[in-house]
Amino acid sequence: MALIVQKYGGTSVADLDRIRNVAQRVVNTYDQGNDVVVILSAMAGVTDNLIKLAQQVSTTPDRRELDVLLATGEQTTAALLAMTLRAMQYPSESILGHQAQVLTDCDFGNARIIDIGAERIRRLVSERKIVVVAGFQGSDADGNITTLGRGGSDTSAVAIAASVKADTCEIYTDVDGIYTTDPNICPKARKMERISYDEMLEMASLGAKVLQIRSVEFAKKYNVPVHVRSSFSEEEGTMVVNEDASMEKLVVSGVTCDKNQARITLKKVPDQPGIAAKVFEPVAAAGIVVDMIIQNMRSGGQTDLTFTVPMTDFERAMAIEREVAREIGAEDVLGDPEIAKVSVIGVGMKNHSGVASLMFTALADENINIRLISTSEIRISCVVTEKYAELAVRVLHTAFGLDKNC
Ligand code: ADP
Ligand code: ASP
Ligand code: MG
Repeated sequence: MALIVQKYGGTSVADLDRIRNVAQRVVNTYDQGNDVVVILSAMAGVTDNLIKLAQQVSTTPDRRELDVLLATGEQTTAALLAMTLRAMQYPSESILGHQAQVLTDCDFGNARIIDIGAERIRRLVSERKIVVVAGFQGSDADGNITTLGRGGSDTSAVAIAASVKADTCEIYTDVDGIYTTDPNICPKARKMERISYDEMLEMASLGAKVLQIRSVEFAKKYNVPVHVRSSFSEEEGTMVVNEDASMEKLVVSGVTCDKNQARITLKKVPDQPGIAAKVFEPVAAAGIVVDMIIQNMRSGGQTDLTFTVPMTDFERAMAIEREVAREIGAEDVLGDPEIAKVSVIGVGMKNHSGVASLMFTALADENINIRLISTSEIRISCVVTEKYAELAVRVLHTAFGLDKNC
């Protein structure tokens, strides 16, 4: 007998039939003698619709109230699943984030989990109840409802699994595991049996939304074995685990794509000490995370400065930089939201040369222009025009020998 945490994503609970399907899976696990804690997302599309509704009230809705609104999506599915289980004569209780004592900071819309008091979940489990927890939400020290950022119910699940010391955390989704790249973009993507926490961290941070990055951070920190699998089949999925000696150390093991990026260029910036600080300090003060930065050399004591920010912060960052440009005497500020970052990832890259040149050649062969480049020990990223992003993913997948044999 084991203690199993199961998380079901939006498409898995998209309507009542699917919620019944989830209930049946939960019951099958429970009937084998296991204790089960279920974490749920909102029905597919509900969070997006709630955001749209709020934006009809204000283009910048109050962040605290927005979280009160968004949390209702997960409250709905948690109640419906617990009801379904009870109708099937199984003991079940739904609880919300604050009732599960998910304590977060007060960064509304993107809150971080500080602690989870697992007593209530443990007590319910000890009474042999199937506990259904609304994912994606918690509350801050003042009792305000908070949400954990898009895709946050993955993090709820892994964090709860860590706090109740679950034997395993199963993430049920609409694909049957983690692939070498998004299988919905590249039909030749290959399913992986196992992936290390570090590679998954890198994939998640570079746009593979199959797991929210913070869930992988929790899994790695607390050593939670995570099993990503489909809620529509019985097939084994992908295990996210510690790196071990038997794992293949491929030079490139995955390709990702992140369309949630925008580019900002300050033209003809005076080339003087202290200018970069003036450009980036106000953006940082506004809580905007700058990703890639490139500075071109120009003649005549002037330079162009280009950087990327998350799409959601684009308008705010543009407004800030227009102000900065006036102050420092830059000629113009140009923005481009239609970009995407494609990346190749692999721990084996550490000891290999030629990965970057293979990547650039593969993109050049398809006439895909590279706008920005950044590298780390285990990844290379290129910014390209958004409409070429999916082609770039497929081309790189083939170039690095990742295509499955059809
Ligand atoms: P859920 O609603 O279950 O949380 P998500 O939509 O958040 O599901 O995540 C699953 C999606 O992640 C898949 O449908 C797929 O398009 C996407 N995805 C991106 N990269 C990968 C990858 N490398 N392997 C599997 N899925 C991926
Ligand atoms: N419902 C939230 C979202 O759509 C959280 C999640 O699905 O994980 O982002
Ligand atoms: Mg998700």
